Amino acid sequence: MKPSVPEITYAPATEVVRLGRDPFRFDGFVNPPVVRGSTVLSPSYDALVNHSGRYSYGRRGNPTTEALETAISALEGADGTLLTPSGLSAISVALLGVLKAGDHLLMVDTAYNPTRRICDGVLRRGGIEVSYYDPLIGAGIESLLRPNTRAIFLESPGSQSMEVQDVPAIVAVAKAHGLVTLIDNTWATPLYLKPLALGVDVSIMAGTKYLSGHADLNIGTIAARGAVFKQILSAHGDLGICVSPDDAALGSRGLRTMAVRLERHWRSGLEVARWLAARPEVARVLHPALEGDAGHALWKRDFTGACGLFSAILKPVPEPAFAAFFDALALFGMGYSWGGFESLIIPFDCSSYRTATTWAPGGPAMRLHIGLEEPADLQADLARGFAAMAAAA
Ligand SMILES: *Cc1c(COP(=O)(O)O)cnc(C)c1O
Repeated sequence: MKPSVPEITYAPATEVVRLGRDPFRFDGFVNPPVVRGSTVLSPSYDALVNHSGRYSYGRRGNPTTEALETAISALEGADGTLLTPSGLSAISVALLGVLKAGDHLLMVDTAYNPTRRICDGVLRRGGIEVSYYDPLIGAGIESLLRPNTRAIFLESPGSQSMEVQDVPAIVAVAKAHGLVTLIDNTWATPLYLKPLALGVDVSIMAGTKYLSGHADLNIGTIAARGAVFKQILSAHGDLGICVSPDDAALGSRGLRTMAVRLERHWRSGLEVARWLAARPEVARVLHPALEGDAGHALWKRDFTGACGLFSAILKPVPEPAFAAFFDALALFGMGYSWGGFESLIIPFDCSSYRTATTWAPGGPAMRLHIGLEEPADLQADLARGFAAMAAAA
């Protein structure tokens, strides 16, 4: 018999390799099998009526989904993890699990924009009040609490504009008032930020991004502790949310290489960010891991790494010249996602939908995802873009 793995904590690179695998449960095969199935048979009347089996019904989980849930729970330090068919559904299910009619939610103004649509649509229609707060508010969030405030939602760094939040300061206020805190941790992943260790109750990840790592999967994870986990588990079950075993297996496969991929995204991203910051066309680079970034001190205090996603503000140029920049790029794809092996770029403008803060950066803004290509090739691609921009201006 092989000795079982002792219950000690390994380095993250080791954890992502070993977590959620139990080869000798599956005749020695390294990865858990993709188990397809809706019906689960019980061996006896007694087992059936007392629900004593490990699994009850396909929608409620199987060995393939359980393997990924177990791994994420260990990485997040959570009592349990739920899988959802997308990052956005992870956010909606978590919010629906925690909130009820009459409650008030404080949502960070720099949330992923579809998160705002959940708040302004489904939640408000269901009688839940939502107000938005400045991501840099820190302990000042106490002044925004109402008698019916139930939860605070964070996302750090903020979508597009990359503000780093003071998570411990906000958690301290929440704990003093018995509020639930949730965070969208997609940027850092549990490898580079451990929200639950900082006292956050619910850590959400769009696994679509770095867990997948290959732009071939939509999946979300909700990791939580204690009573809050039970509430979200109940909403998840009642809403009929489930993930296919094929997608769960792709998520587990992505996990195995997540630490090495993220390290490369981090290093290459910083290299391209520094190169961009030195370009005459660039007014400002927004990247928390860059010395001098407004969020650098908080990033350094709370995070242990950075991914390949950051933003940049250009000096003012006419829109046709900005468009010429994008159209001249050969290596950067234009697409609304990130976290895969390939580099991506999009223009963005948050001015129409932010309500608690003002977005007026003084020039056109773009968000870059630095993939696994060689940074020098990416820089040459961007230089071609700047040449086309100058020619068009
Ligand atoms: C992409 C993204 C999501 C949503 O993930 P999907 O799988 O596309 O639904 C949520 N939060 C952040 C920060 C994201 O970037």
